[in-house]
Amino acid sequence: MIRFENVTKRYADGTTAVDNLSFEVAEGELVTLVGPSGCGKTTTMKMVNRLIEPTGGRIFVDGDDISATNPVELRRRIGYVIQQVGLFPHKTVLDNTATVPHLLGIKRSAARARAAELLELVGLDPSVHGGRYPEQLSGGQRQRVGVARALAADPPVLLMDEPFGAVDPVVREHLQNEFLALQKSVRKTVLFVTHDIEEAVRLGDRIAVYGQGTIEQFDAPAAVLGAPATPYVADFVGADRGLKRLSVTPIEPGDLEQPPVVHLDDPLPATLPGWAVVLDRDENLHGWISAGQAATARGAVREHARRMEARLPVGASLKQAFATMLQHDAGWIAVIDEAGAGRFLGVLTPARLHEALRRSTAADARDIPRDEVELDTVSGR
Ligand code: ADP
Ligand code: MG
Repeated sequence: MIRFENVTKRYADGTTAVDNLSFEVAEGELVTLVGPSGCGKTTTMKMVNRLIEPTGGRIFVDGDDISATNPVELRRRIGYVIQQVGLFPHKTVLDNTATVPHLLGIKRSAARARAAELLELVGLDPSVHGGRYPEQLSGGQRQRVGVARALAADPPVLLMDEPFGAVDPVVREHLQNEFLALQKSVRKTVLFVTHDIEEAVRLGDRIAVYGQGTIEQFDAPAAVLGAPATPYVADFVGADRGLKRLSVTPIEPGDLEQPPVVHLDDPLPATLPGWAVVLDRDENLHGWISAGQAATARGAVREHARRMEARLPVGASLKQAFATMLQHDAGWIAVIDEAGAGRFLGVLTPARLHEALRRSTAADARDIPRDEVELDTVSGR
């Protein structure tokens, strides 16, 4: 549906924004272009609707070489959504959405009826929001209007340039989910630009990871995450891959260290190597004592033991373990049995956590079904 053939864009000042790019987006496919700022994503996108002309190569939309098409007609076939939305401030939401059908010569009443349908499609109530002005909407609602307006002429192709980039993470996740649901029903051919690998992975059927004006890897999300084609791609997706693994790897009994143990009713030992875990009569976790206390104090362990708040049940994720360490500023956390009063099983240290993470890396990404590739987000769903 969209095909790039050796496309290059060199700006007048000599900047090569896009360098001999070739790729294809199938009909009904959603491809995300992801990469750091300045890597050529927007330039790529604007060449598709001829807001920017390439300096080399050819671009085809639905089989037509677009250099030979009338730009105005071309843009009718291509919806365009940008971060700044570009709504008319003096027009109501309904009139903003009806602009394109109206321009296409559809009668005003029919255009407004179509606009109302579109607003509903993007989750806005036309009777509530239709009469408002853009400044009376939240950022997320404005982005929804932007999507509705881009869909107004029912174009087969949608270009979306960081459309959800300006809204907060929770709203962004809502918009992403809504857009995915919408795309399931409208099945547009979509080029979606983002600098956020998490967004790219969540939305894309395939992802194009950009280097400088070139595509480093063009593949399904799981393949990009699991088998990065180049060190650059590995680095770019790196942080999220690691966090994803942390959140899906459970603490196992074999990961645990066995520190010295004392019991509540024991007399304080004269010496301790560092510290010891304190258990009650039933081997349940009570707390800990330090070597310093053991050396200077007298009496039973019970009188000196401190509570151990940094504790988790076995089976909790390594991500929870890491978060618990940070929360309590603890060099280790106690791991207890999931059932009952919490029988002590051992402690997890940062070194053991690292080892556990390495044990989890074996999976071959090409075998991971797409549905299972889901990254945690800041909203902590
Ligand atoms: P992205 O959208 O990935 O952030 P852009 O496509 O906007 O990147 O820009 C790619 C490169 O082209 C950048 O180095 C940018 O500075 C440069 N560039 C963009 N527009 C122009 C322009 N009109 N003239 C000169 N250089 C430009
Ligand atoms: Mg850009």
